Order: sequence, then structure tokens, then C-alpha cells
Amino acid sequence: MSSEMPQTFFLPETEVPDLEFAGIRAQYAALKDAIAPRIAEVFRHGRFIMGPEIEALEDALCDFCGAGHAVAVSSGTDALVAPLMALGVGPGDAVFVPGFTFTATAEVVLLLGAMPVFVDVDGASFNLDPSGLERSIARVRDEGALTPKAVIAVDLFGLPADYEALARIAGAEGLNLIADAAQSFGARRGNRKVGTLAPVTTTSFYPAKPLGCYGDGGAVLTDDPEMAALLRSIRVHGQGSVQYAVERVGLNARLDSFQAAVLLGKLPAFEGEVAARNRLADRYDAGLGAVVQPPARFGGILSSWAQYSILTDDRDGLRARLGEAGIPTAVYYPEPMHLQPAYRDYGGGEGSLPVSEALCGRIVSLPMHAYMRDETADRIIEAVRAAV
Ligand SMILES: *Cc1c(COP(=O)(O)O)cnc(C)c1O
Repeated sequence: MSSEMPQTFFLPETEVPDLEFAGIRAQYAALKDAIAPRIAEVFRHGRFIMGPEIEALEDALCDFCGAGHAVAVSSGTDALVAPLMALGVGPGDAVFVPGFTFTATAEVVLLLGAMPVFVDVDGASFNLDPSGLERSIARVRDEGALTPKAVIAVDLFGLPADYEALARIAGAEGLNLIADAAQSFGARRGNRKVGTLAPVTTTSFYPAKPLGCYGDGGAVLTDDPEMAALLRSIRVHGQGSVQYAVERVGLNARLDSFQAAVLLGKLPAFEGEVAARNRLADRYDAGLGAVVQPPARFGGILSSWAQYSILTDDRDGLRARLGEAGIPTAVYYPEPMHLQPAYRDYGGGEGSLPVSEALCGRIVSLPMHAYMRDETADRIIEAVRAAV
């Protein structure tokens, strides 16, 4: 492939800072020879929608994670909407979601007219608490107004949820289990990679996610061929096998060829990037464990470290002092879902999810990416130690 396009989509290499929060420009500087020619190739063939990159990406995602089917879609949010539509989730249904997550996890439930039921998270993993889920399902069944239909577990900050326990509960209760792996593609529980831990897994390729493109994108992963076929139809307005035959209500939820090209350029480096993120997390743990509460570790589980999030009582003071030292931080998330204005009417109010509520006041995330030099990590560690 020849490339006549300019190679500098971002800063010249000499100006790329490695103290970025998510390392997006540093990554491009490292991978541009793999990415830019694939983008040029999309200009050459001109099939901007459903071009050959889409199927190539879907095959590559299956090869990477071991799922039987991958359906590329337009965002991590559409990746959640589409399987809920395929499962027929709608008015009268209860969908159990964590209280400590990004808004999309709950939003998609209300978009379909179903009811999100917010469940508290585990204080160590920050993921859906299985015993809390059991109690929530029992309460909804007792109240009798809603039909428990599905559980959406979230792999917060890249750490896969406890799918063994969640699958047991979902199976016993006859509920569909969906893994919202927007933050955890590339992670593993034992030998099983994210994409194979639940019957349906959704992910996001938003630029700052562990595997990100240069716009919006997402995918659904499943071993179920019927689910995959439904998703392919829903992705294109509910199309049937004959052109313009409309078999169901669908979406325009296609990934575009440019974004698939970017992801194909990045995928060969991804496993190594996840390893580099784990090395940075280990370095942070060693340097910071004595002064703040580092993320909990779980034997046999490999996080993809979408975020490295610490807990500290003076979160806002720490952030201000790090800001003065030129170190970017972020808060995921300042408010739990059930206290957000958009969802307040659907939750149990203040005090109903004590773990989620407490986390929102103490959590802060440090810069995390695969291209950070050790000296930079040590500078961040020193600044945190000085600031607490
Ligand atoms: C980012 C994210 C999403 C949504 O992904 P988009 O690609 O931004 O639509 C959904 N769930 C979680 C947990 C996320 O972090």
C-alpha cells in the first residue's frame, strides 16, 4: 500500500508528550506506520460504509478474544442497545445495572422503555456485587410490578466482573447476562478473555478506551449464531436477506470503514500494550501503596487498566496539587447513577447504594497508557507522594 497522505495527524513525534492522560498521541507516534496506510487504503477503495475492513476487523476481534462472532457497531452505547433489542427488552422489564458506572449502561435500558434497577458494587473490585444482585432480583420479584429480564455487568476500569457468580445467578433466575466490557477489552479471567466471559459481551472503541479508534466505535461479541444474525440485521435498520426488506425495527449502528482500518492497524500491538499497562500499574502499586489505597488485585485476573484509580480521603486536594505539578487526573465517576438528575426517579435515593456513593467521593484516576516512560511514571509517583 502506498501512502501519499500526510503522516502527521497529530503532533510531530518530537512534540508528543508522554505525560498525556490516555496516551492517544504517544500511541499514534508509535503506531502510525501501521495505521496511516490502512486509512489511505480506505480513501483508495472508497467503500466508506461496510467496506472490507469491517469483516476483516470482525475476524480479527474473534481471533484475538476467542469469541465465535463479532459484530462491529457504531459505539459502545449502540453495542448495548442492539442486544437488548435482540432480546426483546421493553416496557415492564427490569434490567439490573451497577450504580457505579458510565451513564450508557443505564441509559440504553430507559431508551427501550424498560426499567434500570441499580445494584450496589463490591467495595474492592468496584464491580457488580453478586449478593446485592440476588437481593435486588428477589425484591423486584416480591414487588411484582416488573419482570426481571437481564443483567448488565460492567468491567469497571478494565477489571472483569465475577462472571462465574453472575452467570450462576442469571442462570438460576432465567435472566440474560450481558457483559458491558467497554473498559475491559484485552482483559482476562484465567485463560478466558473478555469477549467469552458472558453469553453477550459489548465493548467500545472510543479513543480513550484500552483499544480505541479515532472516533466512535464498538462491537458485540457472542458465541450464539442466532444472536449474531439478529445483531447484523438490527445494525442496518432491521434489514432482511433481500435488499430493502425490513424484518424488524433496527438502528443505523454501523461502524465506518475508517475506524475499522484504525483498529486493524492497532490490534497487532494491543496484547503488548495491555502488558505495558500492567507493568505501569505494578509500578504505581509499588510506589503508591503506602500513601493511598491502590486498586485491589485478584489472583488469576488480568485487568486491561482502562483506568488506574486510587482512593483517598482528600481527593479534591490531591487533584489540585497534582494539577499544579502538571499532572492530569480524572474522576470516574463523581456521582453514582441513581443520584444523577436523569435517573433519580428510578433509584432508591441517597443511602440506597452506600458503596457506590462512598466511592464517588474518594476515587481519582492517574495517567495510564502503554507508552509512558518509567521516568515519567516515577515523576507522577513522586508528585502523588508529595501531595498526600
Ligand atoms: C465508554 C462506556 C460505554 C459507552 O461507550 P461509547 O463508545 O462511548 O458509546 C458504555 N459503558 C461503559 C462502562 C463505558 O465506559
